[in-house]
Amino acid sequence: MEIKTPYIWKNWEFIFWEKATDHNLTHSLHYWTGAFEGIRFYETSNWPKIFRLKEHIERLFYSANTLELKNPFSKEEIIKACIDIVKKSWIESWYLRPIVYYWTWKMWLNPTWASVETVISAWNWGKYLADKAIDVKISKYKRMHPETADMNAKISGWYYNNVLVSLEIKKEGFDEGLLLDTDWFIAEWPGENIFFIKWNKIFTPEVWTILPGITRATIIEIVEEKFWIKVVEEKIIPENLEEFDEAFFVGTAAEVTPIWSITFSWKKINFSSWEKNSLTNKIKNYYLDIVSWKIEKYLNWLS
Ligand code: PMP
Repeated sequence: MEIKTPYIWKNWEFIFWEKATDHNLTHSLHYWTGAFEGIRFYETSNWPKIFRLKEHIERLFYSANTLELKNPFSKEEIIKACIDIVKKSWIESWYLRPIVYYWTWKMWLNPTWASVETVISAWNWGKYLADKAIDVKISKYKRMHPETADMNAKISGWYYNNVLVSLEIKKEGFDEGLLLDTDWFIAEWPGENIFFIKWNKIFTPEVWTILPGITRATIIEIVEEKFWIKVVEEKIIPENLEEFDEAFFVGTAAEVTPIWSITFSWKKINFSSWEKNSLTNKIKNYYLDIVSWKIEKYLNWLS
């Protein structure tokens, strides 16, 4: 088990981790009506820092709004609560998990009259993906179509899709799965966005079915500034995978993770992303410098 904090923040109060429980008939347990965030927190030479906290809380409120979850707190109050929980606990590298959800013991589907709970927890989560280039397989499941739900929101219910992929992939011995959308364009990995490199040009699937990740936005911005490369956002078909030299996943939990191979149908396509001098590795190292308070230009991304 990861190291956890003694406390959880719940509706303006710190409560003991063990006391943070809800009733079995919680609406969000049955219908997955929660909006949440995953935020990373790094030990730096200048106290611990939370990366892009403001942007995560903006997205939390966006997601909550899609479910009409009326969070009784303001964005500023949630930001302060995240900082408080970090200050109150003493772990060096962190993962913060705010969640806003419907609580009620009446099981009507429409929750608009139900109470809303806001909870923030934190635990020590080291490397999310193994610290190596990973083997990926395209899943048989597809990322949900944006006309079925707002796929740009981060909602608990969407993760049913992602859990299915993870169960499928692990059984077959792969490290991770990759989702296509229902039109068979490449979408994302269940918990991260994906980038490809061909002759020093960088490509990523456009915002449509994917969760528009905060790390994805960070990467688009920093590669333009540091490497003078403008990322092309477009539809990518799996049949074109062989044209790419490198591929990598990005996300709060996985940071920048080089991909070793992608298996599609019966073909296994290998990439050179893991090589020491690859562009992927340069981007990865620059990203790690940014989150560690080493790059002057981006200090304002750290709280
Ligand atoms: N897609 C999905 C489905 C995710 O859960 C995540 C993680 N939040 C991402 C992409 C990456 O988003 P971010 O960079 O904001 O963590």
